[in-house]
Amino acid sequence: MVPDWLQKLLILQDRDSRCDTIQRQLEAIPGEISGEEASIKALQAEVEAAGQTIRQLEARRMDLEGEVEQAEAAIVKYKTQQMQVKKNEEYTALEHEIRSQQAKVSDLEDSELLLMEEIDRKRLAQESLRESNASQQKTLEAHIERLKQNYESFAGELQEAKDAVKACEAELSGEVLQQYRYVKGQVKRPPVVVQLDDGRCQGCHLKVSGEVESEARRGDQLVRCDSCGRILYFQR
Ligand SMILES: [Zn+2]
Repeated sequence: MVPDWLQKLLILQDRDSRCDTIQRQLEAIPGEISGEEASIKALQAEVEAAGQTIRQLEARRMDLEGEVEQAEAAIVKYKTQQMQVKKNEEYTALEHEIRSQQAKVSDLEDSELLLMEEIDRKRLAQESLRESNASQQKTLEAHIERLKQNYESFAGELQEAKDAVKACEAELSGEVLQQYRYVKGQVKRPPVVVQLDDGRCQGCHLKVSGEVESEARRGDQLVRCDSCGRILYFQR
């Protein structure tokens, strides 16, 4: 059994700690939301990058197409020249050029075919990437929605918890409250109000002086641990 005022202080500490927990959960949510939003952006960027690769391949295909047209135009030109030349060796030289351009066209068309196959594969891969990323995005969006709802409900809970703290504060003397708030700001980790057990502070686990111990046993005023500064109470 502890004196009434200490009992109230313990209740305050309990309600305070609930407030702090809710506050921490609340504060974590915006970071979680931006994390999920960043993941969505990354998924979209992945699909965009796949599209970019396809556009580059398409551009290469157009280049090849242009080279084929040039070579074919050259063949037409050489064939026209062939009809006009008089000397055999000139004719043969042009024949040689025509063969070489025809070989070039054939090589270019082979490359173009391979490229078209590659583009088809990439398109299929991009399509399945798009589908899979869209479904992942939906999951992430649903999570963001839940986080936003949690934020709302935590905000409501926090308000209630704060009201409960206020109600408890109203029952304590101004001096005790002030000291409690001061100590709460000083100690590195909760709890702020701790039991004195076998002469030891249950916050820092060190033995307190005889004077502090007997004051805590009396329980008529606020006593603090002479090592860590926490508020002590003695359970009879
Ligand atoms: Zn202590």
